[in-house]
Amino acid sequence: MIVLIRKRVLAGSILVCLCLAGMSAVFWAGLRPAGVPAFAAGAGGPVTVVIDPGHGGEDGGAVSPDGVTESRINLEISLRLHELLRFMGQRTVLIRTEDVSVHTEGETMRARKVSDIRRRVELVNGTENAVLLSIHQNSLPSSPVTHGAQVFWNGAEGAEGLAAVVQDALNAAVNCGNEKQSRKIPDTIYLMKHVTAPAILTECGFLSNREETALLQTPSHQLKLAGAIAAGYLRCLAGEEVP
Ligand SMILES: [Zn+2]
Repeated sequence: MIVLIRKRVLAGSILVCLCLAGMSAVFWAGLRPAGVPAFAAGAGGPVTVVIDPGHGGEDGGAVSPDGVTESRINLEISLRLHELLRFMGQRTVLIRTEDVSVHTEGETMRARKVSDIRRRVELVNGTENAVLLSIHQNSLPSSPVTHGAQVFWNGAEGAEGLAAVVQDALNAAVNCGNEKQSRKIPDTIYLMKHVTAPAILTECGFLSNREETALLQTPSHQLKLAGAIAAGYLRCLAGEEVP
């Protein structure tokens, strides 16, 4: 019972924060102060947030030592993020809504993986005024104590600023005492290199860390992560910058 009440209080607090962030976003959208990012509404029509739950289907992504796959956690956080952003009046598209790959061809698993990632690029680049929020889980088996959420940005205008604000929100929500800095994503990540929209990829936690793997599977922690990413996005949309 106590747990239930705490979860409700947590969910309520996140929604109140999101409401405040959203109201300020709506207020500022018309004024467009200097810090407003390139993808803000008014810069060429309404923005569509494309939410990409990484991996899916036969490509489970990273796997914890006890067999928990990344793709399922990515989907659960993405569905919560989608609901929160829709609640705040944002246009959203989910690249997948089930634990499936989005490939269209390929006889081998490798070929299907290539098809899947190219399909994701097509979906993002085919969406007008898109901003991509890609959701992943990290793994560093050589350091099982490493934990926490980190944001990476692509080379498109506005992505670095968005990553900084989302990282700031995640640091406050889930990285207390373990604050991280957002970073430019390496060019080897095909999706992030080939999408033309501002894109950030959030590694929400480490599946190589036993405690964090357990936490990442709880609805309350998934809601915290989704709430922080949504609030960071709305703060950025409102023109907020993090030095
Ligand atoms: Zn991944």
